[in-house]
Amino acid sequence: MQSTMFYNIMPDGTVKQVNPFTGTEVWAVAGRGKKPVTNESPVTARPVEVRDPEDYCSFCPARYFETPPEKSRLIRNQEIWERIDMLSTDKYKGTTAEFRRLGNMFEIVTLDYWRKNYAYKMSAARQKWKEEYLANPSGLKHITDIIHYKLKQEGRTEEQIEKMPMGDKLLIADAFFSGGHELIIAKRHYRPGATVDADLFSSGDMTLEEHFRYFKFTIDAIHDIAATNKYVRYVSVFQNWLRPAGASFDHLHKQLVALDEWGASIENQIKMLREDPNVFNDFGANFAAHHNLVFAENDHAIAFAGIGHRYPTIEIYSRSHAGRPTEHSEDEIRGVSNLVQAIHAAMGNQISCNEEWYYTPIDAVYKMPWHVLIKWRVNVPAGFEGGTSIFINPMTPIELRDRMVPRLYKLRDENRIDRLRIAEECRVDPNPLKYYLK
Ligand SMILES: [Zn+2]
Repeated sequence: MQSTMFYNIMPDGTVKQVNPFTGTEVWAVAGRGKKPVTNESPVTARPVEVRDPEDYCSFCPARYFETPPEKSRLIRNQEIWERIDMLSTDKYKGTTAEFRRLGNMFEIVTLDYWRKNYAYKMSAARQKWKEEYLANPSGLKHITDIIHYKLKQEGRTEEQIEKMPMGDKLLIADAFFSGGHELIIAKRHYRPGATVDADLFSSGDMTLEEHFRYFKFTIDAIHDIAATNKYVRYVSVFQNWLRPAGASFDHLHKQLVALDEWGASIENQIKMLREDPNVFNDFGANFAAHHNLVFAENDHAIAFAGIGHRYPTIEIYSRSHAGRPTEHSEDEIRGVSNLVQAIHAAMGNQISCNEEWYYTPIDAVYKMPWHVLIKWRVNVPAGFEGGTSIFINPMTPIELRDRMVPRLYKLRDENRIDRLRIAEECRVDPNPLKYYLK
């Protein structure tokens, strides 16, 4: 039996936990989540017809014009990867996008929010891109089609849309060129050789190189969002995988949302850092190591089963001295990316999950390590949680660890993931996270 104020295994196997960083109180009852991690298709899966290029949803390669204009596109020629910024419509069909970066048609934090609250103005480069885009007849058609679609989705009638002055419509389009809520869209909808609609292409289906490019492209977007809008204090990055995790598309994508504050959770973590600069080792990595929750690592990152989460949660921490992904070297990004890819690969594509990034905010002077939480959306908090503020997690941290380990060994044997150190192979040195050093 192990007992601390944060992690307490009761004689009957119930694990009472308090998240050291959020204070969330959670109980897990051992043996509740018996369903094994599987890559088999559910019985409800329906056959799917293979089409090339894919055209199953608005994020698919055959339907480039159903999304707002591309701020960036990543293309690949054999081993050479190249980024093209601020595309013109003529460039859409000439290359195949491995990843696309574009504005979210339905922003959480809108361009108007920045305009009205901060007198934010579009940068000269973006203004020029917009003007050139609209000066091209195919560009103008693309934009008016997208605005039409957006207005319809928001409940306007055909007649109302028809009557709306062109100037007003084009003002809406500003958000596509310069808003701070963006999407990073992966190329594939289904896995190669898919036979049923459950064969969706997930992060774990990428090669290590593809997943690294996905991460790097996202990190470039964080950098660019902050460089384009000086009022931004934090860029939230997340990936919702499958409908139960909040995804409105089954097609793999990440989202970035520019914010003018850090949010309560990061605010609190920065406060903790001020009191104990080593808090992410003390209550993160060291704590996990002492309780045998660390299950995978490489030279740049470490993964363990998290405690005190409403959902079964895997935490991946960067070991870098740097506190922001934008300040990581390529090797360090690769290290974090490889570990995250391995977790997704081990989970398979059937578990809905949220991938959430946390890192040192743009204007923070206290360094917090870049870390990624992968939350399995396998349970729905119910009435008990509402009444007691105690959350029931269907899996103990040890059970979560033990689900992952055999899968990781198997994938490593098959060369599907990085040469990670797994389970007992992990060195778990004290203070593995180096963010607290200069
Ligand atoms: Zn698609």
